Amino acid sequence: MDTLLETEKLANFINGEWVEVENTTAVINPATGKEVVQVPLSDANAVDQAVASAQAAQKQWALVPAPQRAEVLYRVGNLLKERKEKLSQLLTMENGKVLEEARGEVQEGIDMAFYMAGEGRRLFGQTTPSELKDKFAMSQRVPVGVVGIITPWNFPIAIATWKSFPAIVAGNAVVWKPATETPIMAYELAKIFEEGGLPKGVINVVFGSGSTVGDSMVHHPDIRVISFTGSNEVGRNIAAECGRQLKKVSLEMGGKNAIIVMDDADIDLAVEGILWSAFGTSGQRCTACSRVIVHEAVKGKLEQKLLTAMERLTIGDGLDESMKVGPIINQAGIRKIKDYIEIGKEEGAKLLVGGHEFRDGAHQGGNYFSPTLFTDATADMRIAQEEIFGPVVSLIPVQSFEEAVEVNNGVEFGLSSSIFTQNVNRVFQAQRDLDTGIVYVNAGTTGAEIHLPFGGTKGTGNGHRDSGVQALDVFTEWKAVYVDYSGKLQRAQIDVE
Ligand code: NAP
Ligand code: MG
Repeated sequence: MDTLLETEKLANFINGEWVEVENTTAVINPATGKEVVQVPLSDANAVDQAVASAQAAQKQWALVPAPQRAEVLYRVGNLLKERKEKLSQLLTMENGKVLEEARGEVQEGIDMAFYMAGEGRRLFGQTTPSELKDKFAMSQRVPVGVVGIITPWNFPIAIATWKSFPAIVAGNAVVWKPATETPIMAYELAKIFEEGGLPKGVINVVFGSGSTVGDSMVHHPDIRVISFTGSNEVGRNIAAECGRQLKKVSLEMGGKNAIIVMDDADIDLAVEGILWSAFGTSGQRCTACSRVIVHEAVKGKLEQKLLTAMERLTIGDGLDESMKVGPIINQAGIRKIKDYIEIGKEEGAKLLVGGHEFRDGAHQGGNYFSPTLFTDATADMRIAQEEIFGPVVSLIPVQSFEEAVEVNNGVEFGLSSSIFTQNVNRVFQAQRDLDTGIVYVNAGTTGAEIHLPFGGTKGTGNGHRDSGVQALDVFTEWKAVYVDYSGKLQRAQIDVE
């Protein structure tokens, strides 16, 4: 047990109570292979209890004026701020990302708290003229009821705040199932909600596997929205079940994000962008850059500079501040990456550097993989089409801007893309033609800010967005209200003079 955590065993948070569960499993620090804490493996009963608690609490919560609901989020934001360093260290221990990135992730939660607290005084609807005399018309957002949130291990706190804060400020109650690999942030955030004065039952945290807890949430008739971030395979099944039940569902899933480097690009800047986007979080970000589409005129130069820059990447335990690249979440992740290295070689891509696991001395016990660069990949290769979720990037040479756009768009996903160029016309053509939900110019594929919509097109999602004001959409219904003050029955479309 680590001294930063006051407990050796996490408990569910249901109806404002900490509920112990007998059946547990170990949370392993991916940097060391050592146990950090035990996490509950709850059953479907725990979900039923959490939903019942949320249902009861939501009725009252919806009646609290939104600016008052927001006060809780301001307090939550302040507590997150006070505990930023402790939370960041715990995050590194459960997830492996280096401390600098963990601090960035906690900061994202802080930003989201204050931003969504501000929504308590907005939650804008519309007033609009009626077609009839002495009649008033408006639309307003109303809460949906009980929402189910299912989050992945790669951003254990940021994604949870993107989903739970808008849900709560809009007047819903939440049942949240965090990823079993990274439950500590959920435990800490639940404590912060409790201390921040959120009424009991408005947020409930149920730990346990996706196939048990997640699945019962998806099937539960009293959960009216599912907001999910994770893999495409799981997301598709969730959407199918929600479709059967006519349950609202928001999905954020995989990516195959590319950086385009044009012949007029600032190559040194592009190298920095690639390094940060491809190898940050060891490539385990949904927005990670895993393709570099490079104009053939600068391919040789870019390869050389990238290889030199990659020598700077130190790999190890993220709690050591000299490390730039942390571990892979688990051995299954390592196996998947290794398989793709073999696939890439068989397909004829040229491995320039990396491609292997680290197990020596300081890396013993952890799941480390070397930053890897393939070149001469073609757009149709599996390493250029499928999500690898590791520190592996493939260079794809192209001859023109048009070809670069075609290659960028020629994948099943559509999360983020980037172009490095000095040509203002190309900048505007690119932001028009790249078909992803997020486009960066002269920056890598990562670095979203919380007040803009986050999400992707095509196979990345189902049209919803996390963060930004758009995050409110899935957690609210639109209600149209007509007030007739004419004193007589006026029929729309008919009694119009
Ligand atoms: P995952 O296996 O789909 O897991 C995501 C969450 O779903 C976990 O909490 C998991 O629980 C749960 N789950 C698993 N099976 C379930 C089921 N049958 N019913 C309900 N819930 C279920 O994904 P992952 O491998 O952990 O995460 C990596 C993936 O997430 C990548 O594909 C990545 O691109 C994507 N991602 C996307 C975004 C985005 O915003 N677009 C952001 C981050 C990550 P347990 O793991 O506890 O069993
Ligand atoms: Mg999983």
